[in-house]
Amino acid sequence: MPLQNCAVKIVGGEAIMRLVRISSLLFLSLCLAGQTRYDLLLQSGHVIDPKNGISAVRDVAIKDGVVASVAQRINPADARKVVNLGGLYVTPGLLDIHVHVFAGTGERDSYAGDNSVYPDGFTFRVGVTTVADAGCAGWRNFEDFKDKVIDRSRTRVLAFLNIVGAGMRGPKFENNLEDMQSTPAAEMAKKYKGLIVGIKTAHYAGKDRTPVERAVAAGTAADIPVMVDFGADHPERPISELLGKKLRAGDIYTHCYSGVRHELVDGRVNPGMIEGRRRGVLFDVGHGGGSFAWRIAVPAIQQKFLPDSISTDLHIASMNAGMKDMLNVMDKFLAMGLTLDDVILRSTWNPARAIKHEELGNLSVGAPADVTVLRLENGDFGFTDVYGARMKGRQKLTCELTLRDGRVVYDLNGITRPDLTTLPPNYTQTGDPAWDAVSPVRRTPEGPKKQ
Ligand SMILES: [Zn+2]
Repeated sequence: MPLQNCAVKIVGGEAIMRLVRISSLLFLSLCLAGQTRYDLLLQSGHVIDPKNGISAVRDVAIKDGVVASVAQRINPADARKVVNLGGLYVTPGLLDIHVHVFAGTGERDSYAGDNSVYPDGFTFRVGVTTVADAGCAGWRNFEDFKDKVIDRSRTRVLAFLNIVGAGMRGPKFENNLEDMQSTPAAEMAKKYKGLIVGIKTAHYAGKDRTPVERAVAAGTAADIPVMVDFGADHPERPISELLGKKLRAGDIYTHCYSGVRHELVDGRVNPGMIEGRRRGVLFDVGHGGGSFAWRIAVPAIQQKFLPDSISTDLHIASMNAGMKDMLNVMDKFLAMGLTLDDVILRSTWNPARAIKHEELGNLSVGAPADVTVLRLENGDFGFTDVYGARMKGRQKLTCELTLRDGRVVYDLNGITRPDLTTLPPNYTQTGDPAWDAVSPVRRTPEGPKKQ
């Protein structure tokens, strides 16, 4: 606060006393701020935290980037900043474990290039705080991916490593069995343990199972799951064999409602899918540009074949088509009759467990304070699948607020911000770095200052 400005118009002894009083108050308030127990208090929202079995109105307090307390009432005087979230839903930051974000290489027609998008433009605005790239990079180009995207993103970016050393760069690469080597893939996964969360195999056109077998070998060596995009459909390799024999418990079958690999047979869920689930194989949505059909998903959900994880398969060809964003895919499951609690489970705690990041996807005390605040709107909405078929829905989620590591990174309606009428005429940057990370560059009278 520019105290010298306050003093300019004040003259005489009384003025000095006023200055002393202002200084004392300022000093006192600074001391109190230093003593607050919490940086941020999210008050009165309906918390949905499936891991901890919570679906009720709760206060959530955050300190130093982690969840510090979740309780029916937390004293607002203990917090530096209080935000009232009455009528809104407070959930763990959403995890989208099937995206394509290896942008920036300049390679055309490649997921290690132009088919990918930069994550930050597609995540915080829909409540996603963590994504897992689904195999854009293999062991040969993973470190380039890390340098170009992972290390530069504000989104938490994790990765499934493609079993193809060159990554997801088109048929010439993705059908080259010679470049599918388990050992270097596993070595790279071990080198970046925690960052590489699985092995991906995708888009293989052949009739054999070699890519799956090598991916499983790499996954076994590195103790991480395998995510499978089935590739071309051949009678020689039915999904019943993949799900019943080849995959391990914890491996992930993505694109589970595509229908292009006989996920539904004569209107019934393929018995191979049911057997896979019994064995512990996980089922991921992976909506994408070609992998979510109402005519498959609706009967499957009616037959209680729910996905373990909801994900987008975000890339340039899906982002403006039937798939819009993570919330749009979640809305589709609300439209099919899942409860909001069901949908949040499949967008937070379930995917966190699938990629063995159990510190994420929940609001336990001590967990990183990745938090999403959602508004559930009621009205007349429509949702389209990859074929352009429209299903009506009555509910739609909107992201109001997203926190990453305890700090606000997206705030749709400025609910954490001071009202214009409360600010001095010459205000510049508002907010407090203890809870605010909205602006990557803070402007001060001295000029831009990096956070
Ligand atoms: Zn994909």
